[in-house]
Amino acid sequence: MSNENQVKHWHVTYNNIHNLIRKNCPKIAVDFNPDLLVAIGMSSSSSDCRRIRINQALGFFPARVMRTFLREATTKKTLQIQAIGLSLYEPIEGVAEEKIAEEVIRTQWLGAEAGKMLIGKRVLIVDEVDDTRKTLSYALTELKRDVETELLNRPEADRDALRASTKFGIFVVHNKNKPKLAELPEGTTYYSGEEVDDVWLNYPWESTDIEEHDRLAALDVENAAAATKKDV
Ligand code: 5GP
Repeated sequence: MSNENQVKHWHVTYNNIHNLIRKNCPKIAVDFNPDLLVAIGMSSSSSDCRRIRINQALGFFPARVMRTFLREATTKKTLQIQAIGLSLYEPIEGVAEEKIAEEVIRTQWLGAEAGKMLIGKRVLIVDEVDDTRKTLSYALTELKRDVETELLNRPEADRDALRASTKFGIFVVHNKNKPKLAELPEGTTYYSGEEVDDVWLNYPWESTDIEEHDRLAALDVENAAAATKKDV
């Protein structure tokens, strides 16, 4: 494979992520001021011979760091983190095309009381990266569906006000600048720690040797600086 065809990697350190979240939290605290964080994470799921799992979201660490800064900046001292588990699958060639909702598989959800937990709250969905956007789109649609289900248990006269007071926002550490394969409803509150090119991001929690990971991250920064210098 020629160098040009190889996927470019960029190593991200724990400190990079921590600092991106720190930078964004003052704005999130003022503008959105969440009552609840929903971290998109992964959990183990059974194998499925019709599909291959290509991606697993992992927003646990960013959500935990964000909680520290939001507790500091707001009155929400008991800000909760709830977890949902999603995996993005790609149909194996030759298998009939599947819809977005079928490509994202739930491996963990909020439980039977999901709607009760969400209704009337300002809910910030947290993930590490927005790549194709399929995972975020699925998560938002399904959480809104839980709210609609719960609304059916409430007096009809209260429903519009309850629906209006339930707000969803999204925070991702990185948003890749690329054409997205799924959309978010217009006006969705959306924050990204950093906009990045369409490269493969190596996250520190995927590494088994954190010193080597950090060394590679420093090298990425050096190489990028050298390339910029050459271009000038
Ligand atoms: P989506 O394509 O639905 O936006 O992203 C789904 C998931 O794919 C992300 O939550 C993440 O777990 C994984 N993913 C996408 N791009 C990258 C990347 O560059 N690096 C890593 N480590 N995971 C990624």
